[in-house]
Amino acid sequence: MYTCANCSVHACEREDHGNLPKNCPMNDMVNLEKIRQSYLEPETNRFFLNAALVEAEGYCEWPRLRETIEFCKKMGYKRVGMAFCGGLKNEAKIAADLFRKHGINLITVICKTGGYDKTEVGMTDRHKTRPGEFEPMCNPIAQAELLNGQNTEFNIVLGLCVGHDSLFMKHSNALCTVLVVKDRVLGHNPCAALYTAEFYGRKRLLPPTPVI
Ligand code: SF4
Repeated sequence: MYTCANCSVHACEREDHGNLPKNCPMNDMVNLEKIRQSYLEPETNRFFLNAALVEAEGYCEWPRLRETIEFCKKMGYKRVGMAFCGGLKNEAKIAADLFRKHGINLITVICKTGGYDKTEVGMTDRHKTRPGEFEPMCNPIAQAELLNGQNTEFNIVLGLCVGHDSLFMKHSNALCTVLVVKDRVLGHNPCAALYTAEFYGRKRLLPPTPVI
């Protein structure tokens, strides 16, 4: 089991790789060397290097939105898809308009496409956020398949729910990036939960206290 998140050595961030922890993945450099070779496959190599170029060119200058646009331009993409959340319609429109200003017409699909009620895929009415009412289901597989049908070369995720985003990425033929991560409570900034995890936000994050 690897535990990089709890490591205090961080030899991987130095040129000298001495003093590796016992469970460090770098104790098996044969495996890591095989993995390094996969970056040399031409398509992966171009993708990876362009991502690194965007990182360097806009370092601490470009927000992720601009980085995403610049990455698409570097890759020369003509058909970029965006799967967005209905709760972020306005943001999706702003993003699409901005991409257009940069010469890229996004192909966009909302999460509620199909307009099915949640009960049509097995959810019970009492588990809806508003029981007794029509509640359209998110349809990430349709979002992926519709964008696949448009032959998108790259797909952007904007604010899909936890798990729905996973299904979208699983079914997307094109590689995906995430522009917005949904967090209804924290203004779509899940890092705020981490920044406040040790004090102000602690109670919201801990498991419920067991009843004895
Ligand atoms: S790769 Fe090794 S040195 Fe780097 S964080 Fe993980 S355990 Fe620590």
